[in-house]
Order: sequence, then C-alpha cells, then structure tokens
Amino acid sequence: MTVFQERAFCLLIPCVASKTVLLVQKYMLTKPSSLSRLVGELKKLPGVGERTALRLAFHLLKSPQNLTALSESLLEVKNRVRACSTCFAMTEDDPCAICSGGRDESIICVVENSQDLMALERSNAYHGRYHVLEGAISPLSGIGPSDLRIDELIKRIKHGGVTEVVIATNFTVEGEATALFLTKLLKPLNIRVSRLAHGIPLGSDIEYVDAATVQWALQGRNPL
Ligand SMILES: [Zn+2]
Repeated sequence: MTVFQERAFCLLIPCVASKTVLLVQKYMLTKPSSLSRLVGELKKLPGVGERTALRLAFHLLKSPQNLTALSESLLEVKNRVRACSTCFAMTEDDPCAICSGGRDESIICVVENSQDLMALERSNAYHGRYHVLEGAISPLSGIGPSDLRIDELIKRIKHGGVTEVVIATNFTVEGEATALFLTKLLKPLNIRVSRLAHGIPLGSDIEYVDAATVQWALQGRNPL
C-alpha cells in the first residue's frame, strides 16, 4: 500500500464507521425491538426529539447499572407518588406534608402544577396552603375549566375558613385566561382574590426588558 493509499484509507475509516452505526441504528429502529420501544418512549418526553432519544438510549445501553437504576426509579415513582387528595400536589403521603403540616389554612395559592408549587416553596416567602389545577385553560389544546381541579377548589373555599386566594398561574396566554376565569368565579364568594405581581426581574437592566413587562411593572408600582 502506497503512502497515498494509506492516507486515503485513514480518511475513509471514520466515514465508514459512522455510516455503519447509522445503518445499524436504522435497522434496529425499523424492526419492532425493545430498543425502538425505548426510543419511542423517550421521544414522548418534553423537549426530546428522535436524535436526543437515540443518544439517551445508547448512553443508557452503555451502562447496564444506570439502566437498572433508572428502571427501578421509574417503577418506584409510579407506585409511590400520587396526587394529594386535598391540594392535588404530587406526594408520597396523602394528605401531603403541606396540607398536614400546620400551614395557614386561610390562604390558598393556586398554581398550574406541582413544579410551580416547588418554585414558590423555594422562595420561603409563602406560608399558606396550595391548590394545584393540573393545567391551565387552553381552548386550542381542548382544555376547558372542567378539565382542571376548579370544582375541588370551590369546594375547599365553600368548606369555610379561607379568606384569600392567590392566583399564581403562569404569565402566559393560558395562565392569564385561567386567572381571569378564576377571578370571575371567586369574587362572588366574598374572599380576597389576588394575583402574583409581575414586573422587572431582579438583577436585570430596564433597557433590556421588553415593553409589555415594563408596562406591567409600571401598573403594579409600589409606594416607598
Ligand atoms: Zn396537599
């Protein structure tokens, strides 16, 4: 083999190798195999496309220990985590630690999901109870008020003892629509209905903040 042939061969190896891997992947995915099922399940996760799903699947296959730990963890979560029967937050105990932990019962903070609840808890600024709606009103996705835990919220308020509801849905079209719907529903119940303040994020320069956020910040300004 000449020097030229050797160099050409070395250049070809990575191309051939990557093509082979792709062919193997394609072959495995076109067949109904456990791997294609795993990739299919991973693709259902938010933000995971086919390439990421493939990368994750092959990463897991490289380490059988990680694969076992992940499968056991998934089963454990499935068997142990459920929605609290009072506030519908994800919990292992029912009622959850917040509902059974001596928190202020007179104030309920309404959030879209358990992740939002966890974010509010991290602030250490709120000491009342919560109510998780399990979503937000979204006509485009076919989600109406009856698909959310709104009836259960009304029942909790009518049970007595609640003086304020803080609406902490997201500041998205869906979150705002849900907040508006809840406000109209809750006002006649003679309780204080408030909304989380929104404005300029801490540590940001006003010149880089979008016009809508500045508008909200001006409307929600506080006296000093
Ligand atoms: Zn609870």
